[in-house]
Amino acid sequence: MIRIRALAVASEISPLIKTGGLADVAGALPAALLAEGVDTVTLVPGYPKVLAALREARSIHDFSEYFGGPARLLAAKSVGLDLFVLDAPHLYLREGGPYGSHDGVDYPDNAFRFAALARLASSIAQGMLQDYLPDVLHVHDWPAALAPAYLHYAEPGARRPPTVLTIHNIAFQGKFPKSVLGALGLPPESFAIDGVEFYGGVGFLKAGLQFADRITTVSPSYSAEILTPEFGMGLEGLLRARASDVIGILNGVDEEVWNPSRDSLIPVNYNQAWLPLRPRNKAALQQLFGLPLDSQALLIGVVSRLSWQKGLDLLLEALPEIKLFGVQLALLGAGDKALERGFLDAARVLPGQVGVKIGYDENAAHLVQAGADVFLVPSRFEPCGLTQLYALRYGAVPVVARVGGLQDTIIDANEMALKAGVATGFQFSPVTKDALIAALRRARCVFSDKPRWRHLQSNGMKTDVSWRNPARRYAQIFRQLIQARGET
Ligand code: ADP
Repeated sequence: MIRIRALAVASEISPLIKTGGLADVAGALPAALLAEGVDTVTLVPGYPKVLAALREARSIHDFSEYFGGPARLLAAKSVGLDLFVLDAPHLYLREGGPYGSHDGVDYPDNAFRFAALARLASSIAQGMLQDYLPDVLHVHDWPAALAPAYLHYAEPGARRPPTVLTIHNIAFQGKFPKSVLGALGLPPESFAIDGVEFYGGVGFLKAGLQFADRITTVSPSYSAEILTPEFGMGLEGLLRARASDVIGILNGVDEEVWNPSRDSLIPVNYNQAWLPLRPRNKAALQQLFGLPLDSQALLIGVVSRLSWQKGLDLLLEALPEIKLFGVQLALLGAGDKALERGFLDAARVLPGQVGVKIGYDENAAHLVQAGADVFLVPSRFEPCGLTQLYALRYGAVPVVARVGGLQDTIIDANEMALKAGVATGFQFSPVTKDALIAALRRARCVFSDKPRWRHLQSNGMKTDVSWRNPARRYAQIFRQLIQARGET
């Protein structure tokens, strides 16, 4: 097998900097691709957290002026990842998160912060570095999505390796006013319907969808959903025109980090054979969230961003009814201030039934997976979703909305699936308060039948949620594109 070199481009990468699932994928895919003959270097912005985590960093290119200030490109390693880091203090040396201040306001110069990253990727692809030439460019989400456009508008004869764009969430599109175009270094003719123009502005994700050779997204169901107006968020027309290039590949999980038999963040380790140990984690979880130590109560766990997408307002509305059938809730999340307040109020009004932690807490996130009986994901849309995959591994039975990757990864415990012995959780549709309550009632009913419940748990724990198959699919796509170009 000829090895190939992939240059990945991502605005976040776990464990260095993470706001969501994109970071998990960018962080885990390179190791899985190694076994498929793909060597990945990932280009990331030099945020303070990234620079602090680098090992063996060396400067390999200097710019006296790059998008408004001096910059340099570093080659470095960090926790097993090969990285190129764009060290540009005027763009990335900020107090807040990757995209905005801590109170959630986007940085005003995001167009330039991420165009700089994408443009550098295209320069490397064209041969800017003497001793590194990628065979394929794999760009993630809008912050990297201009790279295929830069390659498209490069001068005639320039090297143009094939490009793959992965959409992790089409809700984030990177749309900016027309006035930014000149400073991006794109030619005036690029401002066209078959270029980077999007509803009168410049659309980064739109540009990527226009020019990438293949478009992948993180589950088969989401790849079909985004072709429709309900989920496509204005990009469905373009995606439909490119439907034959749109491919859904499920995410895997990092099995080193999410493994109940070795997880150092939970009080008691266990596996399928040692499931009877699991209730000790349930007790620890109840304690952490201020809930009574009741082994018989159905304990519902949630770990989530608090946003409209995640549908947790429905859970909030459902709480008065759910409380009537004696369940407990342990919710860890942060985001939308009204939702944060809503859940904190609920914890005050329903003490002993609702425990809430507002904030981002890796330890607590692992304990919820290890201790909850049910893991709830009521998303209105969900490109893939990782938490229900962790839940499968940890024997927390997922209750999920029937959308996107949730639909593709959980087998609903209807009568037939239960009889066939293949069920792994509960799905509900439509995504409404009443359907959510009905699914929790179903879960509660099966929960009282211990052998059946145990069967659901072990089916989940047996499910292959590794990166092996997804990595093979990405590698296949890379190879097909490279062969079609006659690059190797
Ligand atoms: P999204 O990327 O839309 O937020 P995913 O399910 O794909 O949703 O990924 C969410 C990731 O973030 C998971 O690894 C989850 O455990 C983690 N996470 C979300 N909220 C929190 C939190 N409050 N504390 C700790 N981890 C969290």
